[in-house]
Parts: sequence; structure tokens; C-alpha cells
Amino acid sequence: MSEDCLFCKFVSREIEPDVVHETSTTLAFRDINPQAPTHVLVIPKAHQPTIADLAAHEPSVVADLAAAAGAVAEQEGLGEGYRLVFNTGQQAGQTVFHVHGHVLGGRSLEWPPG
Ligand code: 5GP
Ligand code: ZN
Repeated sequence: MSEDCLFCKFVSREIEPDVVHETSTTLAFRDINPQAPTHVLVIPKAHQPTIADLAAHEPSVVADLAAAAGAVAEQEGLGEGYRLVFNTGQQAGQTVFHVHGHVLGGRSLEWPPG
């Protein structure tokens, strides 16, 4: 756990997010500012700033995150498709430096992204 990390506080339940899925290594909860009908964040319980850091330190949890995103998509009825996005670094729009995958779906999604 990293002090002053919002998502670590969600993992410890110091703050309770709107949880939709949980495993021993991952937690998934609804984004507070949804950008699509379904917008869920999937995070590792361990604190790592980026997906590359997580891959370097706990590679099996990267697979756990991908599996959790798939479970969320199935649970949310996103059989038509969904996007799994890891904004990485400030220029890419990362604002919370505890790695999180955005699971976005429930509408058609444009490509390329903005
Ligand atoms: P990023 O911009 O780092 O890729 O994504 C951070 C996400 O965290 C944003 O989509 C933002 O809406 C979400 N977020 C920020 N604060 C909170 C919060 O307190 N609760 C929840 N559920 N989501 C949050
Ligand atoms: Zn954290």
C-alpha cells in the first residue's frame, strides 16, 4: 500500500468504491465520471504506478487484470465489444498513478481515440 494513494484506500476499504468484481489480486469498481454506459476500473490490489511496472514486478497479475476485465465485460453484458485502456503517463491522460484498466462499453467507440 502506498500512502495517499486513492486506489490503495479503495483496496483497503478505507474508502468504499462501487465494487462490481473482486479476486484475491484484483478489484473492479465503477468510475465516478463514466465516459460510456459501462465504465469500470480494474486495478491490482498491489500498488504499482503503471502497467509496465506491474509487468516488471508482478507479471502474473497482468494476466489477472486481463481476466478480471473479461469477467467484468461478461457480467456487464458487453458481448458486442468493449475497450480496455491503460492511460500511461501524464501526456496520455493518466491522473491516478495506481495502475488501472478502463473497461469501456455499451456504446460504439471511435478509433483513433482523442
Ligand atoms: P486516468 O485519467 O488516470 O486514466 O483515470 C483515472 C480515473 O479515475 C478517471 O476516469 C476518474 O474519473 C476516476 N476517478 C477519480 N477519482 C475517483 C473516485 O474517487 N472514485 C472513482 N470511482 N473513480 C475515480
Ligand atoms: Zn495505490
